[in-house]
Amino acid sequence: MKTLPRIYLASPHMSDEGFEKQYIQAAFDSNWIAPLGENVDRFEQELADKVGSSHAAALSCGTAAIHMALKAAGVGQGDIVFCQSLTFSASANPIIYQNAIPVFIDSEPDTWNMSPDALEKAFAKYPNVKAVIVVHLYGLAADLDRIMELCRKHGVCLIEDAAESLGTLYKGRYSGTFGDYGVFSFNGNKIITTSGGGMLVANQKDSAVAAERIAKVRFWATQSRDSARHYQHSELGYNYRMSNVLAGIGRGQLKVLDQRVTKKRQIFEFYTQAFSTVAEIKMMPANDWSYSNCWLSCITLSGSRVRPLDVMLALEAENIESRPIWKPMHLQPFFRDCDYIDHAGIAQRIFENGVCLPSDTKLTLEELQKIVSIIKKLWH
Ligand SMILES: *Cc1c(COP(=O)(O)O)cnc(C)c1O
Repeated sequence: MKTLPRIYLASPHMSDEGFEKQYIQAAFDSNWIAPLGENVDRFEQELADKVGSSHAAALSCGTAAIHMALKAAGVGQGDIVFCQSLTFSASANPIIYQNAIPVFIDSEPDTWNMSPDALEKAFAKYPNVKAVIVVHLYGLAADLDRIMELCRKHGVCLIEDAAESLGTLYKGRYSGTFGDYGVFSFNGNKIITTSGGGMLVANQKDSAVAAERIAKVRFWATQSRDSARHYQHSELGYNYRMSNVLAGIGRGQLKVLDQRVTKKRQIFEFYTQAFSTVAEIKMMPANDWSYSNCWLSCITLSGSRVRPLDVMLALEAENIESRPIWKPMHLQPFFRDCDYIDHAGIAQRIFENGVCLPSDTKLTLEELQKIVSIIKKLWH
């Protein structure tokens, strides 16, 4: 039997118009095959304009952007940083790069993101905390109002890991623009991609301050070269800038972001309808105050008859990719010595019962129907 073409969880989806290639061609024509050039400058400005932030730095990946945000927030040796536990390890690893100490925070059931109740407990236990990293998992916004209020009250820097939520609105404003810093990723599986890349936006009220912070990040990310003719360095440097070729892909992709969000939301809606008849399947939360980009559509299963692994194996047998929910950081061997502030074991429960379903924007109706029927059959 011929094997069917693989259906992916989320794969790159270039514009039909070929915008990306035009910008890449411009980079070749001008010979700016470098980590600087017009595409980089324009991509920064275009992304900042899109989300409504004043200043942005294009970097080699989202992880680098989180690292630079922590550094800009003044996080260093021995400082405590609160980080959402239910996330990808890239949210937390940069805390270690800075020799700081992560404390992991449980999720709340309504958003799957950082529990404001657990965060409040964490502030009581660690009043000298330096920064908070909140994540908008799978595109759904965290309960930002309460989290921002707590951070303001304690005078602590808030970093929004919006790697998965570009295009998501929280109460009418784009995610990534609420915290002191916002981070986006353009990794291959994200809603738009540059194959690999990231962006840091600074959201200080005073635009001059934001400009200064972003200028400093660009300086660190370009090996911290002092303005001297000879190679002089007064600070530790990093090679974190985005290539001008890849920024060209990003500029093209940004033009189709809204289209991608629309399609992702249709996929989520399709699954919601289809599974409304199966009592043991619950869609991940959605709510009125967040307009999610629905990066991945996820479900949780109740009951013991069908478990997440059964779903994943049944789909895999038909060459369809699905994945477990991120394993919480407080359950990771690498972070076993770190403290964790519990809400009610929510992150662990989501991890143990959840599955990420195929959410590729190239999915056809027939493919979606097939996915649903494979899953529903497990209950027959
Ligand atoms: C993808 C992702 C990152 C890291 O982005 P990269 O560009 O791959 O470095 C960080 N946090 C979350 C939640 C992510 O999903």
